[in-house]
Amino acid sequence: MLQQYDKRNNDIQIWVGDQLFARNEAKVSVFDSTVQGGDAVWEGVRIYDGKIFCLDKHLNRLMASAKAMAFAHIPTKAFIVDALMQTLKANNQKDETHVRLTLSRGLKITSGMDPRLNQFGSTLIIVAEWKPPVYPPSIKLITASQRRNSPMCLDSKIHHNNLINNILAKIEANFAGVDAAIMLDIYGFVSEANGVNIFMIKDGTVFTSHTDACLPGITRATVIEICKSNHLPIVERNVSITEFYSADEVFVTGTMGELTAVSEIDGRKIDQQHNESILQKLKEYFKKKTETEGTILNF
Ligand code: PMP
Repeated sequence: MLQQYDKRNNDIQIWVGDQLFARNEAKVSVFDSTVQGGDAVWEGVRIYDGKIFCLDKHLNRLMASAKAMAFAHIPTKAFIVDALMQTLKANNQKDETHVRLTLSRGLKITSGMDPRLNQFGSTLIIVAEWKPPVYPPSIKLITASQRRNSPMCLDSKIHHNNLINNILAKIEANFAGVDAAIMLDIYGFVSEANGVNIFMIKDGTVFTSHTDACLPGITRATVIEICKSNHLPIVERNVSITEFYSADEVFVTGTMGELTAVSEIDGRKIDQQHNESILQKLKEYFKKKTETEGTILNF
């Protein structure tokens, strides 16, 4: 699926550092760490009907990533929340909004890898775009040859901007004419798709991979929570691609697209075997959460 440009985003205000700029004026330096080495961490956050969904969980993950990367002068959560509220208020965005929250290691005094060259503290960037979660009813996947990082190489628990291995997997999907690519871990088990976590349902049980080699997604955690509180059996274990081929239902999860059904993997159709769709139930529970939970906007 290729996202389309939404004209409502022509005139949005974007937060960079400690102030708002008009879209065309919002810039970082060529000496910023994001440009120099993808040396930044990020979160995707969604606004539903006057509320920011799972804000605290996103901020905690952002802070944990920044700490793992040993960023200096990390803004406080209160500063980030205030900047986020100011940005949403400036754009009058109370719904249908996706926020890309980036924290870069900041400006360098000269080009180079060494974080000691970063002498101005980290840079906060908040891009809040009109982007309703409109996804196709189902998507097709292939398995990529590109593997997802293991903690032996680069821990996927750091939500960093150095997304090259996932981008290479997405390029494979594009060449294959499908929507996204499943990435295996270094042992050959399914880790996630290039930008979303992945689940399968078989004989009434929901399965997903451990988070050893994938991002511990917040939507993933919400789905697990929903299963547990509604007595739907949920198992986290190593799952192979062969098991996915003969699953009753497969779906992917992420803040951008919520829960999206998968109709085909590597040319194998995913045929729902039972009349009752568990995915449909999970979608309804998830919708209820987005309608009733979240941090209320202060404007
Ligand atoms: N995996 C990857 C690689 C991602 O970039 C994302 C999006 N942040 C996800 C999974 C989904 O995570 P979340 O549910 O927290 O949006």
